[in-house]
Amino acid sequence: MSQSNTYDLDLPQWIETLKKWQQPAFRAKQIWNGLYKQYWNQADQFLQLPAPLRKQLADSFDFKVIEPVLTLDSSDGQTRKTLFRLYDGRQIEAVLMRYDDRRTLCISTQVGCAMGCTFCATGQMGFKRHLSSGEIIAQVMHYARLLRETNEQVTNVVVMGMGEPFHNYDNTLAAIDRLNHPDGCNMGARRFTISTSGLIPAIRRFASEKRQINLAISLHASGDEARSAVMPVNRRYPIADLVAACRDYVTETGRRITFEWALIHGVNDTPAEAAKLAGLLKGLLCHVNAIPLNPTEGFDGKSTTQTRAEAFRQILENAGIPCTIRIRRGIDIQAGCGQLATQAEKEQSSG
Ligand code: SAH
Ligand code: SF4
Repeated sequence: MSQSNTYDLDLPQWIETLKKWQQPAFRAKQIWNGLYKQYWNQADQFLQLPAPLRKQLADSFDFKVIEPVLTLDSSDGQTRKTLFRLYDGRQIEAVLMRYDDRRTLCISTQVGCAMGCTFCATGQMGFKRHLSSGEIIAQVMHYARLLRETNEQVTNVVVMGMGEPFHNYDNTLAAIDRLNHPDGCNMGARRFTISTSGLIPAIRRFASEKRQINLAISLHASGDEARSAVMPVNRRYPIADLVAACRDYVTETGRRITFEWALIHGVNDTPAEAAKLAGLLKGLLCHVNAIPLNPTEGFDGKSTTQTRAEAFRQILENAGIPCTIRIRRGIDIQAGCGQLATQAEKEQSSG
């Protein structure tokens, strides 16, 4: 059964719904307050609402939205990954990473992904469906609720879980807008980062909307042949056009852009590759986030080594391009993009 969930509606839509139910508009704010400030996820928690309205809400809306079915904690206790079941039985995953004072969530926007990047577990699974805005929000609310138990808060959200957020542009941005709304979660826009495989029209649209949300581009190769081999989307949106769109984004917004680079041993982690990348990004307000490849079943490539990664970083830094090597967190809990959910999907289809 597909039922509207409580996080799917923005404030005007709640007002509209309540109007249809002959309820005053202030009830909409009470509902929003309960959902986003109190983190309630059951109709019977909304005690300030009249009982018949609570019943009507319970009958009309899905309050749980997503159900955690499996939780894995990394051995160092810093990373937690949760697999969630959606109303139709599909599954997605979201990860919490603790680092210093930060509590960063990595959330999903689709079940599977249509982009087909060869190294990516989600890409290997193919596209199943988009998530609704409420299903995207529910992942954040789940962890917000959990962290509140220890007086902690979600500090950052990276849209780097399963799926291509710019393929599901409206729902992804609607979700962030609701989390950002002062009457919603009131999380600053700068705390969000959207990562895209490089859908140029969406990048241009995003730039024109002049949002404060951070943008990251998955690059992984600086030549068209090499990039198309691992990221089929590159055939449609080749590197020169992509980098031109990124330059326009920086000009238009004044914001720094992040490039992601999964270091694959002997493929894109060589000094020559680093120098080529430095040339490509010259003069662009940017930062390179290099991540050792997380090996997946369907891809032959191996991860880089620490020494090679460091040499790569040094070449970029020497060329004036800031670069950090991100340590892959939670390898022991399959915290690579889509790895847990693909496993679950496989079991579902074979069983
Ligand atoms: N679809 C978006 C966001 C989700 S993927 C995108 O591609 O940007 C988030 C990041 O994880 C991307 O940079 C992606 O390239 C990277 N990634 C996917 N699989 C990986 C793997 N096996 N090892 C390292 N990085 C991976
Ligand atoms: Fe999709 Fe991103 Fe994975 Fe590519 S890397 S298949 S765009 S989720």
